[in-house]
Amino acid sequence: MAKTEKVQQRSRGSYVFSSLGNLEELELSTMKEIGDMITDAQPFILFSGGRDSVVALDLAKKVVANSERNDLIAIHADTTIGLSENLSYVRSTCNLLSVKLEVVKPDLDFFELSKRKGFPRHNARWCCYQLKVDPIRKYLHKVGGEKIILDGIRAEESRQRTKMSQYSWHKRFACCVFHPIFYWRRTDVLEYLKRHNLPENPLYSKGFKRATECWCGVFKSVEEFRLLLRGYPEFFEKLVNLEASMRNGGSFLFKQGKKVYLRDLKEEEKTLECS
Ligand code: SF4
Repeated sequence: MAKTEKVQQRSRGSYVFSSLGNLEELELSTMKEIGDMITDAQPFILFSGGRDSVVALDLAKKVVANSERNDLIAIHADTTIGLSENLSYVRSTCNLLSVKLEVVKPDLDFFELSKRKGFPRHNARWCCYQLKVDPIRKYLHKVGGEKIILDGIRAEESRQRTKMSQYSWHKRFACCVFHPIFYWRRTDVLEYLKRHNLPENPLYSKGFKRATECWCGVFKSVEEFRLLLRGYPEFFEKLVNLEASMRNGGSFLFKQGKKVYLRDLKEEEKTLECS
């Protein structure tokens, strides 16, 4: 049976997630799958800086090193609306694991694009393509030969993700994408990080539930923005200034059908400090 078929069959079946008891087995079988997938192609791994992506990166690195190859390249999308601490973590982790890193950027930054297109919304997520997909696509386009993309996507993360396939063809990247830790549980990821002593993104210790490369308001809660204001006031101020410069008076956030202005969050925080 072709490897594509094998993976697709597994993806369609009922989800049998891993359990912590057999992490070692899970690790070995995942590495075997990565090895099978990358045999005839150069592997690239999307590395956002989150916990899942560092586990996938470490596993891929081990597979490549075991087969005496040295062609793994990590790709990080600098969305231009991420915290510099995240990018520093991405750089230092790739250094530590001796994985070559390519940082790709959009031609126009989030600030300029928002002024032209308005802030991204759930039903108008222009940013995913402009800030991530397109810069990655352009980079891959320049690389010749057979390629395969790996990443840290897990089915458990959302209902939408459970509907995804573990292995698929990416039209825009013009190559296959494989999610090696698709069936892993969060507990497996945490245990793996601990067992292998992998460095954790400092953003987690600041209270953020997710360490991401994007701070647009589509997927983040108001509470996360309050945390951002307390931890990174200068970065927050840049977003407040952007909000103020929008010609249509748009709010950075839009929650439960209402505009939520970052400048109001800032004022509320000041009131709390004074009371
Ligand atoms: S998190 Fe936001 S900025 Fe980033 S790609 Fe998704 S919708 Fe766009």
